[in-house]
Formats: sequence, structure tokens, C-alpha cells
Amino acid sequence: MHFDIFTLFPEMFQGVFECSIIQRARQAGLVSIALHNIRDYAPGKHRVTDDVPYGGGGGMVMKPEPIWNAVEAVLGYDPTGRKDVPIILLSPQGRLFTHAVARELAQQPRLLLICGRYEGVDERVRRYLATDEISIGDYVLSGGEIPAMVLVDAIVRWAPGVLGDPDAPLDDSHASGLLEYPHYTRPAIYRGFEVPAVLRSGHHAEIARWRRQEALRRTHERRPDLLAHAPLTQADREFLAQLEREAAESAQTEL
Ligand code: SAM
Repeated sequence: MHFDIFTLFPEMFQGVFECSIIQRARQAGLVSIALHNIRDYAPGKHRVTDDVPYGGGGGMVMKPEPIWNAVEAVLGYDPTGRKDVPIILLSPQGRLFTHAVARELAQQPRLLLICGRYEGVDERVRRYLATDEISIGDYVLSGGEIPAMVLVDAIVRWAPGVLGDPDAPLDDSHASGLLEYPHYTRPAIYRGFEVPAVLRSGHHAEIARWRRQEALRRTHERRPDLLAHAPLTQADREFLAQLEREAAESAQTEL
């Protein structure tokens, strides 16, 4: 899959895209990423990319021409109003980026990501050029570069062949609708803190049961909202009911 990223600060991406999983995926030819400096597409000697807002007020707004020119040059056609390829504007006003959205976008062979700066981009970019708007959370960052990195990292994990063990992400938090169970590694005892005996028992069915119950326990404790949509078995429901009873009992004891 291929990403085209439009930014005023391409140098910000170097460290993130040049190590670990993303770098290996690029070297293996599974993923390619092209960084496009919006300033290179700004008309005029001074290559101005922002201007004061109409109507007054503080801050600067990113001009539409450099962004539009850049997207048009990279795609090779006028993208206005077309939906041939997803053109994603990173914005705190967009739909929230979740596990499900990452998987949805991972189906695309090509994605264009536009990183805003300052007060944001001219509204016409959002309305007539972008085909989608994505937010990485309910807070405001200084620019769309970090959100673009977040999208690329989360999406690349789902590209075929990128992770050594293709089943690994299936157990990850949110993939199955639950938070993942806790992990331990050697040593078995560290500073007196012991790894649960079941994980050292070699009993695969017991380990699987323990992991499922710990995933349910964590989700129940930390993100009970997820349980409403998680696919649950009868045994899961019984375990959750038991957790509810335990919680009610301990609340009674505290009174
Ligand atoms: N004035 C804008 C508003 O209130 O909606 C915020 C502009 S923000 C300072 C500058 C740029 O950072 C945005 O255009 C967007 O590209 C990016 N950005 C900031 N927060 C973001 C978030 N939570 N998710 C995605 N992009 C974000």
C-alpha cells in the first residue's frame, strides 16, 4: 500500500518512518510512503502557504492553492469533487480514529493525508478536496503531522506480511472488542513479584482460559463501554456476571 503525505514539515517524519516495523515494511516493498512539501507547490517567489483569516481574528490559515496544486500534481489529475482515492484531512473535527477505522483504511491500496497547521486549512480544502476527515482524539495538536504518523503506524500493521506473526494483532487490545490480557516474560520472579503459575504450567487450555478471563476483567474494570459491542460467549457472560457479583459484595463490605 502507498501513502502520500502532504505537509509543511516533511523532516518531522524521518525518525518515525526510518525505524522498526514501518522501516522494515518499506524495505520489504510492502509499504511505500512519499512525503510532499506543500511549500514546493505554492505559487510566487516567496512560496507563501498561509494568510490572515477573512473576517479578522488571530492566527493564520493555510491557503487552498498550494495544497490543491500539490494533490493535483501528485495524482496527475484535477481531484476536485472526485473520490477515486481517499484524500484524508487530519483535523480535530473529523471522525474519531479507532481500530475499526484503521482496518477499514488498510483495505485501500493508496491513501493521501493532508496535514494542517496554524488555525487549520481553508474550508474549501475540507469541503471540495478532502474525501474524509479524521481526528486522533478530542484534543488539539499544533499540526497534522503526528496524527498522520499515528494513522500510518496503525494502518501499516494490517498490511499483509508486515507483522511476522499474522495472528498477533488479532489478540491486541480492541481487535476482538476487548482489552488484551496481561503479558509476562522471564524471569519468573523479579524483586519478589511472581509470574502467575498458570502461565508456567504448560497447560494450553488453562492458559487460554486465564487469558480470556483476564481480558474480560481488564475490559470490565477499565473500559466497560467496550463490552456492549464485544462478541461474548455464554462462558464470558457468566464470568462477567461473577465479576459484577464480586464488585457488589466488596461495595457492601466497604459500607
Ligand atoms: N483551529 C482548529 C480547530 O479548532 O479545529 C485547530 C487547528 S490545529 C492547531 C492545526 C492542525 O493540526 C489541524 O489543521 C489539523 O491538521 C491538526 N490537528 C490538531 N489536532 C488534531 C487532532 N486531534 N486530530 C487530527 N489532526 C489534528
